[in-house]
Amino acid sequence: MTQLTTQQATKYVYAFSEGDASQKDLLGGKGANLAEMTRIGLPVPPGFVITTEACNAYLATGVEPDSLEAEIRSHLMILQRQAGRTLGEPGDPLLVSVRSGAKFSMPGMMETVLDIGLNDHSVLGLARHSGDEVFAWDSYRRLIQMYGKTVFGIAGDQFDAVLEAAEKSSGVTADNEIPVDELRHVVEEFKKIVRLHTGREFPQDPQEQLLGAIHAVFQSWNSQRAIAYRRQERIPADLGTAVTVMAMVYGNLGQSSGTGVAFTRDPATGERGVYGDYLSDAQGEDVVAGGHNTMSLKDLERIDKRSYEELLTYMNVLEQHYRDLCDIEFTIERGKLWMLQTRVGKRTAGAAFVIACQLVDEGVIGLDEALSRVTGTQLTHLMFPSFAPSENDKVIASGVPASPGAAVGAIVLDSDTAQHASGPVILVRRETTPDDLPGMIAAQAVLTSHGGKTSHAAVVARGMGKPCVCGAEALAIDESARTVRIGDLILHEGDVLSVDGASGQVYRGEIPVQPSPLVQHFENGEKPTEDPLIKAVDRLLRHADWVRRLGVQANADTPEDATRARHFGALGIGLCRTEHMFLGERREMIERLVLAEAESEQHAALEALLPLQRADFVEILRAMDGLPVTIRLIDPPLHEFLPRIEELTAKVARAEALGVTDDESAHDRVLLTAVRRINEQNPMLGLRGVRLGLVIPGLVGMQVRAVAEAAAELVRDGWDPRPEIMVPLVGSVHELEAVLPDLQAVLTEIPDAPVIPVGTMIEVPRAALTAGKIAAHAAFFSFGTNDLTQMGWGFSRDDVESAFFPCYLDHGIFTVSPFESLDVEGIGRLVQIAVTEGRAARPDLKIGVCGEHGGDPASIHFFHQVGLDYVSCSPFRVPIARLEAGRAAISDTKSDTR
Ligand code: PEP
Ligand code: MG
Repeated sequence: MTQLTTQQATKYVYAFSEGDASQKDLLGGKGANLAEMTRIGLPVPPGFVITTEACNAYLATGVEPDSLEAEIRSHLMILQRQAGRTLGEPGDPLLVSVRSGAKFSMPGMMETVLDIGLNDHSVLGLARHSGDEVFAWDSYRRLIQMYGKTVFGIAGDQFDAVLEAAEKSSGVTADNEIPVDELRHVVEEFKKIVRLHTGREFPQDPQEQLLGAIHAVFQSWNSQRAIAYRRQERIPADLGTAVTVMAMVYGNLGQSSGTGVAFTRDPATGERGVYGDYLSDAQGEDVVAGGHNTMSLKDLERIDKRSYEELLTYMNVLEQHYRDLCDIEFTIERGKLWMLQTRVGKRTAGAAFVIACQLVDEGVIGLDEALSRVTGTQLTHLMFPSFAPSENDKVIASGVPASPGAAVGAIVLDSDTAQHASGPVILVRRETTPDDLPGMIAAQAVLTSHGGKTSHAAVVARGMGKPCVCGAEALAIDESARTVRIGDLILHEGDVLSVDGASGQVYRGEIPVQPSPLVQHFENGEKPTEDPLIKAVDRLLRHADWVRRLGVQANADTPEDATRARHFGALGIGLCRTEHMFLGERREMIERLVLAEAESEQHAALEALLPLQRADFVEILRAMDGLPVTIRLIDPPLHEFLPRIEELTAKVARAEALGVTDDESAHDRVLLTAVRRINEQNPMLGLRGVRLGLVIPGLVGMQVRAVAEAAAELVRDGWDPRPEIMVPLVGSVHELEAVLPDLQAVLTEIPDAPVIPVGTMIEVPRAALTAGKIAAHAAFFSFGTNDLTQMGWGFSRDDVESAFFPCYLDHGIFTVSPFESLDVEGIGRLVQIAVTEGRAARPDLKIGVCGEHGGDPASIHFFHQVGLDYVSCSPFRVPIARLEAGRAAISDTKSDTR
């Protein structure tokens, strides 16, 4: 059969009136929202958008698609008709702006060129028509400067030097005060710079200017800073940017003109009101660039009441329309208000919760949508302790907020000093390497002048849960002088800093740290409160609890953790690791067990451990009364409980050299033989988990007995203990078959105990691939995604994150550590197979996850999708897991404010 294909030329250019807000993929956020504002009748200057597809085609081939230039020309004609003027026409020229705008906001990362259309002739027309020569010549110099930098790649300081000289020779201090004759001279000098750099004149043809600017904006998608930003924000590299071409309006036409930004609610707290800044007689980039004294938006009411009121009306329209906080850029040109940009605005974590609930109360959105507008990551930020700075505490530097938390300490400039310091320290480095690890461990926080969220410092600090600020570029670190210079401020090693890893801000001196009010609220049993933030979080968490399908349990090994987990809303313990119960003074008993030669000696060692274990379990089961407590049998290799081989070898050698022959040295010699015997090259792949249960059956038998006896004791006392026993590191059903009879035999020996289900972890890839068989012998599965990731990738979980993950992240091999967020494509597939095959064999199989991923927002959505019954995570992450499980249930987020 012949296939008929109709070839339709791709449309690369859209007039504002042709698009809408849903087209962010194609028109970018800025273009789509300008189209939307045009559609709903707000005063937007006429313009058009060149699509991201055109950008991608240009970037792929190095030339623009065939039909693009013609499309641009025809849209320019329409624009000119709407504006009633012609681009660059000498009498009364139309000028346009050319701006980047990707799907996700990438503030300041790409290029913009304003005042396209000015040349030696039209500058005179602009002067005549505006009646403002200074304005016209200043616009022309701005064009050459911006064009020179973005299109010709000329270093900005060359232009800055000319401008500074002009200010000096005219005796003024600001560029907008330079008199017109001097401005004409500046324009000539700027043209000279262009000639020198490019070997040609500054282009006088407005159409050529326009195309040159468009190409430069396309190219800026791949600028170094745009690439770095995308990596940091996990924005895909293949989206491309759209380009918006819009008729210029001027905020710099005297005191009846100006430009500003506005927010429909306070983005810091969520409070309703008029928030924003306004700058008279200025263009948009003057507000962004700083250095000019902006006024509060409220002051506009005094200056231009009509425009102010009109703006408030539009702000209302936009909020109603987008059903969310909007931020807005606007310009007033001689009393006429123009809307230049809007989008659903970024906000602080706290404001996100407050605003979502306000909108519910206002009847704008429902609770499901409110829940979709907040994230677990935002909740994490609200749970860290924070600084309480006073008016006098000034931020001295800021960088990328790489790992949240608040820390105070003395500056140390290297790892060694950090390790040997007596008090709390902040490790300040240009960037960190694996050699800095001991210093990072010793420090309260890490501060670097280079690198972003995926730098070594960031990755490692996050792994340690330590505050970290990266890329604080204002810091000049001089290791030999032992100083840190920030502008004029010189700090010395030993001076105290306060580092806020949540905001990226750095303060001089000690700022008081306050615990998170939200955490206090949870810990005090969630008493009613009037605090709007706590109320909002509480409300959305309750809604999440109501809608979620996933259960949320905690990883807890102590009664204290169990109690805290309950306060945070955990409905059970998904992983109680038992190994810490063999540390401290109990180590000796494990030693006796390992050294036992006769069965009776082994028995005696285990008998000594039994009452201690039983007491541990009684406490934990009591703290989680009425809820499941999944107790994992011992997992780590035994050598972890014995002295280190190097230390013991040295001790024995010392004793031998000195001819010591007392009891202790005899014991050490025997112990050394045993330690050598069980020493392993790859202990993570050695005698651990279920393998221990098979090689030393008495040990896990004792643990099972302790669990059952603890439960029986509690039942007798009127409690409702619900222990479950979990076998770790199973790779084959035969391992399970081999250990189960002994475990079951112990359980039947304690008649007062409740029924205790026995299940298994799925953490060896082979277990996932043979889950159907394993399910026949397991009451439940719990994915140990830490080991599953370690063995699935072949990555040593203890080494690789600090050793080479930064390099992997730089290469884009993954965008986030697979130990932090589940690798859905690979490890997720193992999970999926195990769920499907496990449930096929045993439809009532309970399945959960207890690896670190159980508390990671993105991973929780995956676990929801593949049909797990619960996630288990550290107590502190329980509220985050509750929230994300709820969000997963109502599926996709509806508001993306990146
Ligand atoms: C895991 O491997 O995911 C797990 C929970 O066990 P552990 O971290 O104790 O090895
Ligand atoms: Mg494990």
